[in-house]
Amino acid sequence: MFYSKRDLQFHLNEVLQVESLCQYPYFQDHSTETFQLVLESAEQIATQKLLPLLTVMDRQEPQLVNGKIMVHEGMKEIVKLFGTNGWINAPFNYDEDGQQLPLTLHNAAGFIFQAANYSASVFPFLSTGAANLIRNFASKELNDTFCPKLYSGEWQGTMALTEPDAGSSLSDLSTSAEPTAQEGIYAIKGQKIYISCGDHDACQNVVHLMLARIKGAPEGVKGISLFIVPQKRLSGGGLVSNDVETAGVYHKMGYKGAPIAHLMVGSNNNTEGYLVGEPNKGLTYMFQMMNEARVGVGMNATAIGTAAFYASLAYAKERPQGRRISEKDPTKPQQKIIVHADVKRLLLFQKAVVEGSLDLLLFCSKLADLMHVTDGEEKENAAMLLDFLTPLAKSYPSEMCCQTTSAAVQILGGAGYTTDFPVEQFYREARIHPIHEGTTAIHGLDLLGRKFTINKGQAGVLFFLEVGKTIQKTQNTPSLKPLGEQLANELRTLQKVTTQLLGTAKEDVEKGFADATLFLEAVGHIAIAWRWLEQAHVAEQNVPEAHEADKHFYQGKVHTAKYFFEYELPKVKALFARLSSEADITVAMQEAWF
Ligand SMILES: Cc1cc2nc3c(=O)[nH]c(=O)nc-3n(C[C@H](O)[C@H](O)[C@H](O)COP(=O)(O)OP(=O)(O)OC[C@H]3O[C@@H](n4cnc5c(N)ncnc54)[C@H](O)[C@@H]3O)c2cc1C
Repeated sequence: MFYSKRDLQFHLNEVLQVESLCQYPYFQDHSTETFQLVLESAEQIATQKLLPLLTVMDRQEPQLVNGKIMVHEGMKEIVKLFGTNGWINAPFNYDEDGQQLPLTLHNAAGFIFQAANYSASVFPFLSTGAANLIRNFASKELNDTFCPKLYSGEWQGTMALTEPDAGSSLSDLSTSAEPTAQEGIYAIKGQKIYISCGDHDACQNVVHLMLARIKGAPEGVKGISLFIVPQKRLSGGGLVSNDVETAGVYHKMGYKGAPIAHLMVGSNNNTEGYLVGEPNKGLTYMFQMMNEARVGVGMNATAIGTAAFYASLAYAKERPQGRRISEKDPTKPQQKIIVHADVKRLLLFQKAVVEGSLDLLLFCSKLADLMHVTDGEEKENAAMLLDFLTPLAKSYPSEMCCQTTSAAVQILGGAGYTTDFPVEQFYREARIHPIHEGTTAIHGLDLLGRKFTINKGQAGVLFFLEVGKTIQKTQNTPSLKPLGEQLANELRTLQKVTTQLLGTAKEDVEKGFADATLFLEAVGHIAIAWRWLEQAHVAEQNVPEAHEADKHFYQGKVHTAKYFFEYELPKVKALFARLSSEADITVAMQEAWF
């Protein structure tokens, strides 16, 4: 078992009531039944195609052979399957050959793929993102040229931002774009590093959505434009080289099945790039893709954490070792390690993090759907709340699933450290998520410096209102009332701490933002506590009518919510204490003192 179908259904149907999306004309052809079919089909592909390659793709990494990255042979069939089965463009319009599938369902299906084999799942995920940028911002001609090939899986999409001197600081990127005699076509020159699926032999062509600076453009982020830069360009009805060379493939600690490329662009002054939208608006456009990708990254982390949780749960139920601490008789048979309180703590920790994260991520996905199909204030609020939650939805699962996969390794003891079991692979694979799509530090700065301040702090107000609604709902449930009160208290402290930090930042920007990462960690815990309270509320309501197996499921939900409020949420107290202190320890530290 690499994920729980029952749990996924709970989030989608009982907590978020996704069928309510079918009331909107865009989704009217869908129903609970079509959603069910989508998830069943995802599970089938995951089980039959992705899962069998999980270990072998980790052991046989992509290799650069004569300038081409060769990936695992099995990826050819998988890439094709994602295309022909319509997964890549499933959320897009019917007239684009899409299925107008809610993003919530697309992401839920993605979660199943990622839990089965994270490396294999990123190939189609990147193409969806690249195509989405083209269909939203590029001309019809570019759309017609590139999107159908991306949808079919024949061509691979990428997101090409990072350069040797521009990682977190994209304002410093230097890849150049010079206008040519043909309008909209630019000569691109530079290099891009760490490009996921930037080159591989399981497709015919790679389409890079690349950031570059048009000659003479303003310095900084205001001078960045977005281009489609194909690896091979169309010429005379065929494909010819577009002077995008693969200089290397990265060998990584995890996520090894996916090819990560180092690209040299325009070394022979023969790379064509096609301008997307208007000049100098590249980063704004890219942020659209990055916000989706960031919710996606949170989902990836959660999926890997989920697979590790179920692997360690299965082991804990089977591994006999020692006896309960209350059992003093050594002649009694050994008991399964799941009886030990500390093993249960390690399991509860994983369950609390991954199921709390999944709920937040699906909540965000539903906001993206509502943003798409509603108007006026409802649309604006959905967009604002999603924007606010994005750094949390990306960073909390990313950071925490490094810890939960470590807990999974711990449960297996020595076996967890060996390659005989999959948990060591999950542990390695989880580590990428706090790094790519913006490091945790960058998201901390974004949350405190932008999300809490734009539109006079309206997004923060919306967040507080949403959490307040959940607290309100639980006030008549005796078992949940104290949890609601605890969360309300932490919200009040958060309000105070935010005002204090933003005040400090006005006087001394470095000091005010020095611990933005810790601030992000605290707000992340509060957001997940909110989603656990919501889950516990639904579960409590359903316990009396539930049959035996479901009763256990709901009781497990309520108990895990209690775990979160007893073990995880109190961590914010220490964070708030630090954040409220005037001591400027990190800013004051001198390089020479290390
Ligand atoms: C496996 C993998 C896949 C990737 N896929 C892609 C891809 O498909 N496309 C793409 O464009 N890129 C991709 N990347 C690149 C990734 O997005 C960058 O590695 C990431 O943005 C960090 O940039 P960097 O590596 O240059 O680190 P740096 O920016 O040098 O950061 C190093 C450290 O300094 C910290 N730091 C930097 N600036 C600040 C600051 N202002 N305040 C506080 N701390 C700061 C960072 O948080 C980090 O801890 C990938 C990377 C990897 C490893």
